[in-house]
Amino acid sequence: MLSAKHVTILISTVVYFFANCSNVSPLDRRAADPDKRAKQSQANAPELTGPKASSRAAAKADTKPIEWCGVTPAAMKSIYGKGQRLKLVWISLDGFQPTALEPWISKLPSPHPKGLSWLIKKARGRNDLKVINPTVTAPSHISTITCSGAGVHGILDNTSWTGTESVNGFNRPYQAETWIARLRKQGLRVGSALYPSIDGNGDERTADVGITYDVPGSSPQIVTVAKGATSEVMIPDRANAGKSFNVKVTVNSAGVVTAETPWGAVGPMQVAKPVDLTFKTKMNGVERLAAVSLMLLANSPASVVEVSPMQVMPAFGKDFVETLDRDGVFFSGLRDYKMQSYTESYLATMEHRRKFAMAAELEMVRRGDLDALFLYFEDLDALLHGFYRDAANEKLIVDYLSRFDRDIAKLLESIPPTADLVVLGDHGMSAIAYVLNVRKILTEEVASKGYITTPGGAVYFYPPQGDMTKDAPAGLDLQKIADRLRNLELDITGKKIFAKVIVRGTKEAADEGLVGKNLPWIMAFANDGIGFKNSVEDRLLLARARWAKIPEKLQSKYPDTMNNGNLVVPVPAGQHGHFNGLPQMRTKLVLEGPRVGKIPPASIEKTLQLVPAVADAEGWQRPAGCAL
Ligand SMILES: [Zn+2]
Repeated sequence: MLSAKHVTILISTVVYFFANCSNVSPLDRRAADPDKRAKQSQANAPELTGPKASSRAAAKADTKPIEWCGVTPAAMKSIYGKGQRLKLVWISLDGFQPTALEPWISKLPSPHPKGLSWLIKKARGRNDLKVINPTVTAPSHISTITCSGAGVHGILDNTSWTGTESVNGFNRPYQAETWIARLRKQGLRVGSALYPSIDGNGDERTADVGITYDVPGSSPQIVTVAKGATSEVMIPDRANAGKSFNVKVTVNSAGVVTAETPWGAVGPMQVAKPVDLTFKTKMNGVERLAAVSLMLLANSPASVVEVSPMQVMPAFGKDFVETLDRDGVFFSGLRDYKMQSYTESYLATMEHRRKFAMAAELEMVRRGDLDALFLYFEDLDALLHGFYRDAANEKLIVDYLSRFDRDIAKLLESIPPTADLVVLGDHGMSAIAYVLNVRKILTEEVASKGYITTPGGAVYFYPPQGDMTKDAPAGLDLQKIADRLRNLELDITGKKIFAKVIVRGTKEAADEGLVGKNLPWIMAFANDGIGFKNSVEDRLLLARARWAKIPEKLQSKYPDTMNNGNLVVPVPAGQHGHFNGLPQMRTKLVLEGPRVGKIPPASIEKTLQLVPAVADAEGWQRPAGCAL
């Protein structure tokens, strides 16, 4: 294995959590072999019995207990019956648009009877849901959970322009009360797993227990250590800005690796297998577990950049951290990583995150001490962004969806019949045929007077750097620019580029819930099939090449693709952010259960109506933004 001179070591910091069927103490687990743990948990899993056994029998044949103890059949049995306090499970499936997904879902070899096809069947009985403008993940989730428009809460994009800098739209402060905060003030106990913007930053954004969505900035370090050498590596403690620790890595002449850490010596380690070192740290005042993953590669020049989606995943509530710690639920971005193609790595990272979230979610149901749960799955959105109408990768996508299908079914089956189920998406998806350069749409002359951003299917034209509230200077006629945009056609198709162009401060803007001065001067929302990039290239139509998605054997045929974008390589992809009036941007809704099941299908037409309707059905308070 170690024929190469050097050993490349990838290091990343992640917070991790532990599942309820291991006798190994966290300390012992540091060196425990994950494969061995998986085998132990499989051996310990008893047969299913009891009221739910028959409905699960279909799933049994294909359900090999996965590595995390929290989702084994044994754990399922302990979950069921304990969650009696649970009244509501609210699931956000990012990009949930059955029309886009069905070509894949119809090909699932053995769809679970309570999985994705069940959700789609149930969703059919309801209206398509109209989401807010912009049809983008962070604004849409924040709107739904606060029942307020983007003009009120002020989050307009996943990467949000403040007037002076671009910041993460999920982390940015917003100006509205969340339903989660309202329910907690009412004395209810709430859990949240990855629900966007519920990130533990202050009471308004914190659940009683749960885990948070991505915290950016955890790309791996790459360290190369020669055989027979030792290298000291400073690793930032990503949970605590400014702090760090050292790990001394030694590779002997035979290529065997050992490491000295602040928590003791580790190794000898095998090459090409992740090793996770755990430690405790504090984040937002809560003690959490963190892990450093060491991925040892035998001098592989492999595309290490593809390992980067590793994240810090902080948890709410010390007791939840302790439960997961005791039980062995684990998040390490490297755990499922193999040196594979872009597509396989992309899917492996998604799967890893989902399995981790599933284990934590089932733990929240199992605890039985929560009234409401808010859960989030990124998978469908990520698949559609990466592979919408991608026939070449269909088998990989269908295999992935088969696993997701079983996971979702496990989760749905863990929900006690006394609890209500709400499932919805945050936007639909457009199959992108053309990527246009916003700089050629807003001419340089106009663009130089303002600031441009693009959330995929829209173009925002802001005041120049500094004061967002500034009015357009004399001589810059916003209505004239907007009219020009409204009439722009793409000559290849002969169709209008934009479906809706909104100028700040107009009645049209107010009608769309876009009020206030912390908005772009102009928000232009595209028609279906068109996406945007902000590029300095001197062309309107941009190459859609995504180098990493081109099969290696074909890469030599496109030597210049990444350099100058001259070639248009047909890479299927999806996008959103388009005008919310388009059918493609709508999403779907499932309401099942003793109380929400009675909400008349015709009464919910848009996502903003959902929280008040469900609050009323449960007899709970509404957030301040949508109180009558
Ligand atoms: Zn989304």
